[in-house]
Amino acid sequence: MNLPEAKVSKILNFSCVDGPGNRLVLFLQGCNFACLNCHNPHTMALCNHCGDCVPACPTGALSMIGGRVVHDPTRCDECDQCLEVCPINSNPKVFQVTIGEVLELVQRNKPFLNGITVSGGEATTQLKFITALFGVMKQSVSLRDLTCFIDSNGYLPEFAWRSVLPYTDGVMLDIKSFDCDLHCKLTGRTNERVLASARFLHAEGKLHELRYLLIPGMTDVPAEIDRLLDFVLDLSPGLNLRLNAFQHHGVRGEAQDWPAAEKDRVEEIASQLRRGGLSNVTTPAVYI
Ligand code: SF4
Ligand code: SF4
Repeated sequence: MNLPEAKVSKILNFSCVDGPGNRLVLFLQGCNFACLNCHNPHTMALCNHCGDCVPACPTGALSMIGGRVVHDPTRCDECDQCLEVCPINSNPKVFQVTIGEVLELVQRNKPFLNGITVSGGEATTQLKFITALFGVMKQSVSLRDLTCFIDSNGYLPEFAWRSVLPYTDGVMLDIKSFDCDLHCKLTGRTNERVLASARFLHAEGKLHELRYLLIPGMTDVPAEIDRLLDFVLDLSPGLNLRLNAFQHHGVRGEAQDWPAAEKDRVEEIASQLRRGGLSNVTTPAVYI
């Protein structure tokens, strides 16, 4: 049987911020949102091999071969100038991985791992790969004690979640805004599916954590925070809620002019949510 492969922008062998414990993280390329605040905008699009980045590479790591851009990692110094010139928010350094290659990597690092997380971009745009990878891991005698998590924007419809949940231990899900118009402005998509995903995943016992990004004057306003509190209370007061703080690192376009979220305001909102009854609210350890 031919197992699906993935287009990957980065693999971290160890991370302690992408789910519980220490995790190997696959960042898949491609996203179905176009978030103005995205701090990794070059993960959004799949390369169309236009070739614009080739002359921008100072080390000759990029070349056009047979109408396709080819990246030579041995000549790359990770200066990221290719990302700056790409007109569609893509990345010529994206590489293809097989499930066998991922399993080998996981096996090699297993003594130090609690599990793996598939992130993005938007991980679920490559759902067949995730389902196959997690399925193989759950059948593997040597790997099935590792947990399998997905980091998602929640846009996946319920029927598609149902195909991957039997092999998934948990999902970290972002809610960008409760106001549908604001959500649309921030992401290019409406929020109904995201809210439905959060409710569905919670009902299935698979919602590990909700994440909410505080953008001053937009998503930190009282009306949004009240709706966030009501939404989480309705799911479970003990649900893990991680507040993130908007910062400028990596962002492009109009979001560069937005004010950064300040620690005092983030802590004030966290306190308000705790007073409102939420018992597992976390805030950023650092602001950069
Ligand atoms: S990061 Fe991009 S531009 Fe820089 S050396 Fe590598 S391929 Fe070339
Ligand atoms: S990474 Fe961007 S600039 Fe480079 S070939 Fe692909 S689409 Fe064109």
